[in-house]
Amino acid sequence: MSLDFLTAHELAGKLRSKEISVRQLTEAALDRIRSLDGAVHAFITVDEAGAFLAADHAQKRLDDGDPSPLLGIPIAVKDNMCTRGLLTTCGSKILEGYKPSYNATAVQKLHDAGMVLIGKTNLDEFAMGSSTEYSHYGPSHNPWDLDRVPGGSSGGSAASVCAGMTPLALGSDTGGSIRQPAALTGIVGMKPTYGRVSRYGLVAFSSSLDQIGPFARDVTDCAQLLNVICGHDELDATSLDMPVPDFTRALSKDVGGLRIGVPKEFMGDGIEAGVRDTVQAALGVLEQAGASIEEASLPSTEYGVATYYIIAPCEASSNLARYDGVRFGYRTKSDAGHVDLVEQTREEGFGEEVKRRILIGTYALSAGYYDAYYLHAQKVRTKMRMEFEELFERFDVIAGPTSPTVAFKIGEFDDDPLSLKMADLLTIPANMLGTCAISVNCGFSEGLPVGLQIIGKPFDEETVLRAAFAYEHRTDWHTRRPPIA
Ligand code: GLN
Repeated sequence: MSLDFLTAHELAGKLRSKEISVRQLTEAALDRIRSLDGAVHAFITVDEAGAFLAADHAQKRLDDGDPSPLLGIPIAVKDNMCTRGLLTTCGSKILEGYKPSYNATAVQKLHDAGMVLIGKTNLDEFAMGSSTEYSHYGPSHNPWDLDRVPGGSSGGSAASVCAGMTPLALGSDTGGSIRQPAALTGIVGMKPTYGRVSRYGLVAFSSSLDQIGPFARDVTDCAQLLNVICGHDELDATSLDMPVPDFTRALSKDVGGLRIGVPKEFMGDGIEAGVRDTVQAALGVLEQAGASIEEASLPSTEYGVATYYIIAPCEASSNLARYDGVRFGYRTKSDAGHVDLVEQTREEGFGEEVKRRILIGTYALSAGYYDAYYLHAQKVRTKMRMEFEELFERFDVIAGPTSPTVAFKIGEFDDDPLSLKMADLLTIPANMLGTCAISVNCGFSEGLPVGLQIIGKPFDEETVLRAAFAYEHRTDWHTRRPPIA
């Protein structure tokens, strides 16, 4: 029987009943990658040796009766999280050959939970993008249609889970990079509340927005993986010291009385009709289940993209100043003194999009422009937060589409990087607020998956998971698989 599309909790059952061994499961994942990744390109690095080592450790723990739920389960990790001794490229030439000497805390937690790290997945360079086309290592492809993007920037992680390579993956979400690729590939993706998951060892893009989170084939798996990665970490000053619930306890089929607000700005201009209708039908399912659905308004939605594309580049321009060719990664061959070394390394090592953002960020932070751009953007961010707070007085969750469109063609926005940024219209608000949000598959438009986004109050992942689980329980979209060999 094929293991390719089973969920982690189904696989865990088979491991415990000894129907399969961890080695067999690991081999199956590696086989699948061998046969499909030439076409999908989900991975930058596959760590076969490391995976078998981890598999043997996990098997021993299983045999010793260790009850950790995700013991022995294969997982892929976005290549912007540090992995000890294993190439970490961020999809950039500038980190060529970089092997970190430590694990990101989230990665260490996977190891501690006995999970089997299969490899590192493709992404837009430094997580800047919405399509995975800006990777130095070439684009990833959407398993539903190989001519289309899997979304981004965590496109490789999403493609891996979607194509049946690994049941789980980690991504990072700064402006939608988990939820949007989850939507475009028809899987579950969740951005936890800022501070829930340590960012230690996540290569910084925009530090006030970045957050690590899970990709999964269903909501139960998503909750299980969330259980593993959340928690306070002294190595990240922004990680919150508050209790982490067992998220699987939140998985209830009952949404009676749940108040769902649907901002009209999420269903209006710029949203494809097919996406809107599909999401409308999904909201109908939740209504039938006893939730109340009411139109709401988040007027600042239209300023979100502009605001984000000031704040994120500003933070990035500072964070990316460290790549100088001196200490690690790529170094230019040109050697006409220190200044030339740094300049040439950055010129040769960064791709176009990353350079664009460093320039925008540096400009917006410079004397004379700071007030007009950065400060102004921060004020709009505050305004957005206030609007959200008002909504959350009346609603338990906010819902709508995850992405305004279904997966687009590779190369479609080659000449128009500005329009590509509209892909983030509906995901950016949750990052601005720092709150949690999930995307689950809620049907198809033009034969391509559509994501339903559910945004919760800060630290209320449980209600988000409950709503998502109740929806999933009443539908079978999450069981659909892409037509790939
Ligand atoms: N698409 C957005 C950007 O290009 C978000 C990326 C992300 O969440 N990492 O910045």
